[in-house]
Amino acid sequence: EVVINRIAAGEVIQRPSNALKELLENSLDAGSSNILVVVKSGGMKLLQIQDDGTGIRKDDLPIVCERFTTSKLEKFEDLQRIGTYGFRGEALASISHVAHLTIVTKTEDSPCAFRAEYSDGKLKQYPDHVVQNPKPCAGKQGTLIIVEDLFYNMETRRRALKSVAEEHNKIVDVVTKYAVHNAKVGFSLKKAGETMTEIRTPSRSSVLDNIKLLYGAAIARELVEIRCDDKTTGFTLNGYVSNANYSTKKLTFLLFINHRLVDSSGLRKSIESVYYNYLPKGSHPYVYLSIDIDPRNVDVNVHPTKHEVTFLHEDMIITSITNSVENVLLGSNH
Ligand code: ADP
Ligand code: MG
Repeated sequence: EVVINRIAAGEVIQRPSNALKELLENSLDAGSSNILVVVKSGGMKLLQIQDDGTGIRKDDLPIVCERFTTSKLEKFEDLQRIGTYGFRGEALASISHVAHLTIVTKTEDSPCAFRAEYSDGKLKQYPDHVVQNPKPCAGKQGTLIIVEDLFYNMETRRRALKSVAEEHNKIVDVVTKYAVHNAKVGFSLKKAGETMTEIRTPSRSSVLDNIKLLYGAAIARELVEIRCDDKTTGFTLNGYVSNANYSTKKLTFLLFINHRLVDSSGLRKSIESVYYNYLPKGSHPYVYLSIDIDPRNVDVNVHPTKHEVTFLHEDMIITSITNSVENVLLGSNH
């Protein structure tokens, strides 16, 4: 059974950046204002996320890594969110099956923090009962998640990973995109043992300021705000796209649907095709889109790790968004 669970876990968590994405979501869901990520060897040796959110109650520690355990089904709004979040209560469980997982956490009303170690979905059992698990310790409010030696027990997954540098770049990309979208939250990223931070955004920033900080002033200068409120299909869109004066060799595409980083190749291709008429050959735009849509209209059946979504009225929504982009380009073309 452990092996089957492990294979299933390896499907949910395919590389360090997948795990990090889930952990960032959890920290954001916990209402954090600051999130610090520390990595070693592209996240393969160590992936550590410290937040200042609500923390996890001591009584919940024995079950948080059990499959389908979630505290997020109580409110109606959360229930609705399942649509886009695809799978619930599987992230910590999956990680505990394919890595060494430690959680240090403290809620506001707890006198101390607790440190808990997990293996295969459960708290680690120490036969002599000398070691306490969870164990009381010092700590401030929030949660520290430590993921060590990812895929130590899954040779195939480990071999499928790219180089340390490439895995690290994927991590930088995920943190960067979440930092842009969640501008009110301060994000930091650094490599273990190094003092220099690679990414640092202030809390209570704005999307545009964070784009400037993370992607550069040259991009930020050429961005145009895009908004769309479509009553018939029931979606709203906010974002920034580059105008006809800006182009790079590589497309930058940030798509958040209901605050989750996803991909929609249909939408991506349609937007790119609008720019073909305005940009020099071989050039690409910068696109940041945040779409809010009734989660009941977003397809849940898409595999979670692919982050590819499909939605109801997809053609209409894509047309409506590409029209807005086209208008922006017409307006900025000089
Ligand atoms: P889900 O996010 O779908 O509920 P997860 O496996 O990602 O499932 O997390 C399980 C549960 O652990 C969450 O529902 C939440 O109660 C708790 N949890 C995980 N990470 C954090 C965190 N950083 N802060 C507070 N609670 C957390
Ligand atoms: Mg989660």
